[in-house]
Amino acid sequence: MLKQEVQYKEKIAQILGTSSDRIFLYWKGRVALHALLRAMQIGSGDEVIVPAFTCIVVPNAIKYLGAKPIYVDINPTTYNADYQEVAKKITPKTKAIICQNTFGLSSDIEALVALAQQHKLFTIEDCTHGFGGTYNGRPNGSYCDAAFYSTQWNKPFSTGIGGFAVVNNEKLLSKLDAVNEDLERATRKDNWQLRILYFVRERILTARRYWKMLAMYRFLSRYNLVQGSSSGGELCSIEPPKHYFKAISQAQIAKGLQNIDKIGELSALRKRNAQTYNDYLQQRGKTFVSPQLFDNHAFLKFPLLVQRREEVLRLTEKRHIPLGEWFCSPLHPTTENLTLWDFDEAQFPIASDISKKMVNLPTDVPEIAPVLAFLNEILDDIL
Ligand SMILES: *Cc1c(COP(=O)(O)O)cnc(C)c1O
Repeated sequence: MLKQEVQYKEKIAQILGTSSDRIFLYWKGRVALHALLRAMQIGSGDEVIVPAFTCIVVPNAIKYLGAKPIYVDINPTTYNADYQEVAKKITPKTKAIICQNTFGLSSDIEALVALAQQHKLFTIEDCTHGFGGTYNGRPNGSYCDAAFYSTQWNKPFSTGIGGFAVVNNEKLLSKLDAVNEDLERATRKDNWQLRILYFVRERILTARRYWKMLAMYRFLSRYNLVQGSSSGGELCSIEPPKHYFKAISQAQIAKGLQNIDKIGELSALRKRNAQTYNDYLQQRGKTFVSPQLFDNHAFLKFPLLVQRREEVLRLTEKRHIPLGEWFCSPLHPTTENLTLWDFDEAQFPIASDISKKMVNLPTDVPEIAPVLAFLNEILDDIL
């Protein structure tokens, strides 16, 4: 193993309070999930329980194995799957429960793990929003048999694209090692493309130029002069794309080592900003995050429900506020043909309704005064 890879795993392990031989690195978070499902020997006919408020790549990772995602509606105060509802969905075919950490808040993990043990099921924490945060005093991702993380641009720290897994159940270690034998290696071209991506993102797409370039990008897209990022097959098909099961690259490891140390400071900033938003909303009688949840919340994004989302998005673009759109669909960001993923909106009224009203306030901006000014502007009419 290369020296940087060892260092990267050690840094991750330290934050997760575990040892580095339990950390596994991948090309993306979804690949980490897919590998874990395979290590759990999940396959054709098996069922995996997932929240009806997730990213399309999660049911994809399940369906690529011939298994079936079984959705559970969410609790409107946590945006996570409801424990009672999960219990109702267990059948003799169930093999695993995916416990999602949504916006930085864990599911009711201790209860879910106890439920899974009772039925001899595996648990996987989708910690793609939760790295660096804690649940009841322990690092996110340390309760389930395994957890997976993402280091995509908008995740807790970034390597452009990327992901990793932690394995807490010792019995899975050798199985995951065997599965990982099948990983494709990242090519020289992959490494160069990533380095170009980092260069563009860090040196060219600076905050100052971002909005202008976004407008230009939109203009070019309208005339079909650039490839939109959402045309990817993963968002509209249940077939695995080519080169899906890929190992992490050197470029990502180097970027991870550069960025992982920022997590402490970023987590503190996210929490401070979330507290400011929450105080603002609570004082004005709007929906806010229950203060009881704060200790267990990493606030990767701050969830906000609005009445007319399109108008809000237009306004924030004008005001140069980087508003997020997670989860604009129960299977974000795919809004059509959800039955392909065995999803029937009518069965999940809470997730379906919330996904029509949800936007996310940025929590990692150093200056939130413009966001507060914007909230003031829409307070009476839209919030
Ligand atoms: C981002 C995300 C993933 C997948 O992570 P990638 O690294 O993009 O594969 C999975 N689940 C949720 C909830 C996510 O937000």
